[in-house]
Amino acid sequence: MIPAPPLAPQLTTSEAGASDWRLAWRQAVREPAELLRTLELPGLAARVSAAAAGQFPLRVPRGFVARMRKGDPDDPLLRQVLPLDEEDRPVPGFVHDAVGDLAAGGATGVLHKYRGRALLVATGSCAIHCRYCFRRHFPYADQTAAAGRWREALDYLAAHPEVDEVLLSGGDPLSLATGKLAEFTRGLAALPHVRRLRLHTRLPVVLPERVDTELLDWLAGQPRQVVVVIHANHANELDAGVDRALAGLREAGATLLNQAVLLRGVNDSVEALAALSERLFQAGVLPYYLHQLDRVAGTAHFEVPDDEARALHAGLAARLPGYLVPRLVREVAGAPAKVPL
Ligand code: SF4
Repeated sequence: MIPAPPLAPQLTTSEAGASDWRLAWRQAVREPAELLRTLELPGLAARVSAAAAGQFPLRVPRGFVARMRKGDPDDPLLRQVLPLDEEDRPVPGFVHDAVGDLAAGGATGVLHKYRGRALLVATGSCAIHCRYCFRRHFPYADQTAAAGRWREALDYLAAHPEVDEVLLSGGDPLSLATGKLAEFTRGLAALPHVRRLRLHTRLPVVLPERVDTELLDWLAGQPRQVVVVIHANHANELDAGVDRALAGLREAGATLLNQAVLLRGVNDSVEALAALSERLFQAGVLPYYLHQLDRVAGTAHFEVPDDEARALHAGLAARLPGYLVPRLVREVAGAPAKVPL
C-alpha cells in the first residue's frame, strides 16, 4: 500500500505573505542526497534504500534538519527520517496494520477503538515522514475524515453519545488549514456530549511556524477543553522556535502532553529519555506516554525488546520525579485501552 502523496496545503498569492508555515512546508527536503549533502554525510548514501524511499518518501522540514548534527551518521533526528536499507528486510511479526486500525473503522475516517473516545483520521498529510510511523501503510486515500466528509464523521459522533472526547489525528491534523479545522469544530457545537478535543500533532515540533495567530485564535475560541499531544522523541527536537510555539498553545488554553516512541538508536538510554522529559517540562509539556514500537513492516530495526524497555523505564523512574516519568505502554489490536508493559 502506498501512502497518499503529501498533500501540501495550497499557497495562494494572497496567502504568501501571511502564511509562512505553508511556505516552510513546501520547502521541505525530499531527496536523501540533498539531506546527506547538507549534513556532510556522503558516506551514508550507500545505506539509503530507494525501495523504502519509494514506498514512503523522505520528507523533512528544513528547520528540523537544522537541529541535526553535521557529520554525525547516528544523529537521533536524522535516524527518524532517513530511509535506510534496514527497512527492506522482512521480519516475521512486522505487518502493515499492526494496531488494527482498519478493523476499527466506524465511519469514513473514524476509528472507534475505546469506548469514550473516537479518533478521526483527519488527513493523510504530514510535514515530516517518520520512518517508524505506525500508519506508513495506511490507505489514507479512502479513510480520511476531512476530505469533504466531516459530515459523515459528525453524524457518527452524533449517533454515539458515549463519546465525550474526540481526537483529531492523521497524518497530522494541523496540516489542515485552520478554516478547515474551524469547520469541524462548528459542527461539534451541536454535540454537547463531546467535552474534550484532543489534537495529536508533530507540527509544533517539526514546523513550529504552523502555530500562527490564526491557529491560536481558533484554539482560544474553543468552548471545550483542548489537549494537544505533541510527539517528540528526543530532546534535540526542541529549540527556541518550538518553545515559542508551545508557549503560544499554552496561552491559548491548551493542555500540553507528549507521547514518545521508544526507538533504538534515537532514545534507547536512560540519559536520552531523562533529557527528553526535562526538556519537555522546561517547555511546559508533561511526558505522558512512552510507547513501545508498533510492529509495522519496515520498522523492526527500531525495536527495543520489552525487558530492555522495562529496565530503561525503571532507570528513568529512579532518576526523575514521578510527574516526569511517562507511562510505558503498548497498543494491542482489539484491547480496550493502551496496555502497560
Ligand atoms: S508525523 Fe505522525 S503520522 Fe506523520 S509520519 Fe510522523 S509519526 Fe506518522
